[in-house]
Amino acid sequence: MSELRRDPITGRWIITRTMTGIDTPSEFFHPRKMFEGIECPFCKGNENLTEPEIFAFRKEGSKPDDRNWAIRVFRDKYPILHTDSGIKKKGVGDAFLYDMINGFGVHEIIVETSKHITNFAELDIDQMKMVLMTYRIRLNKLRGDKRLKYGLVYRNQGYDPVVSLPHSHSQIIALPVVPKSVKEELVTSRNYFREKQRCLFCDIIKEERGYAARIVDEGDNFIAVIPYAPRFAFETHIYPLKHQSDFTKFPDSDLDELSKMIKNIFYKITKLLNNPPINLVLHTSPFKIPEEDYWDTIVQDYHWHIEIMPHAVPERGFEFGADFFITPPSPEISAKFLREVS
Ligand SMILES: [Zn+2]
Ligand SMILES: [Zn+2]
Ligand SMILES: [Zn+2]
Repeated sequence: MSELRRDPITGRWIITRTMTGIDTPSEFFHPRKMFEGIECPFCKGNENLTEPEIFAFRKEGSKPDDRNWAIRVFRDKYPILHTDSGIKKKGVGDAFLYDMINGFGVHEIIVETSKHITNFAELDIDQMKMVLMTYRIRLNKLRGDKRLKYGLVYRNQGYDPVVSLPHSHSQIIALPVVPKSVKEELVTSRNYFREKQRCLFCDIIKEERGYAARIVDEGDNFIAVIPYAPRFAFETHIYPLKHQSDFTKFPDSDLDELSKMIKNIFYKITKLLNNPPINLVLHTSPFKIPEEDYWDTIVQDYHWHIEIMPHAVPERGFEFGADFFITPPSPEISAKFLREVS
């Protein structure tokens, strides 16, 4: 059992497991320990070690869960979220301070290749394109459940294998609430649009192209830049050059360029920083849009993007205590380093 709980001070939501009958704390932290000592459950031939597939790119004529696949999607084996448990409780507790939703949501794993590859940069371009197409297909599928408000696509790479399996994979968590970091972006870009009748992100792209020093890579349809004030050293964001609020809506013909750009950035960061842990997140518009008088200009004011965050040094007290980040070297110096990686 699990719950989504909202912190009344910051407005941040968390997911917590509330199940009882667990003997040691480590059982909460390391649900994947049953995989220790056995083969990789994400490799070709080990399909029986995962939940049944719910989507796949696979060889014509092959059957679900057989070994002839290129991309496989299934639910997490130890789901912290379920779709059969949605009860929203507002104002829980004696002082009615706490909002809670029974662990309602969806957690899907996207295995990006049947080969045991551990770095996104090692996927070939066609495989990378299929990964991005899978993001679009799954987000559109999850959007069909009107109880879900947001689908966050993310990747963890280079973490302790007990916490995150090393085999190249992405994850989607779909939630009945919009996560705080996305909501902050939505509110800021809506306010900017109300004032200037322009998209904040489009203006940022214009600024970055004019200045050029923070650009890492640029093509006909996408640009990769280190933000003006990044949280992590070498953090790189990819934006579509043409305004687009929804990741699922740009032409399929652009996927080739986007795949090459993502692969290139992962390659450069891996080489330059000696294979650090890297997170990728996709920030796209929420599912239920537009809501009257709420996100009613979202199609014009929000601009989807990909954030790639290397962790060359672990975050420490200042970052957690102040939500303030120390990121040596500067974005301009970092971009120059990354541009020069061949
Ligand atoms: Zn594997
Ligand atoms: Zn825009
Ligand atoms: Zn973002």
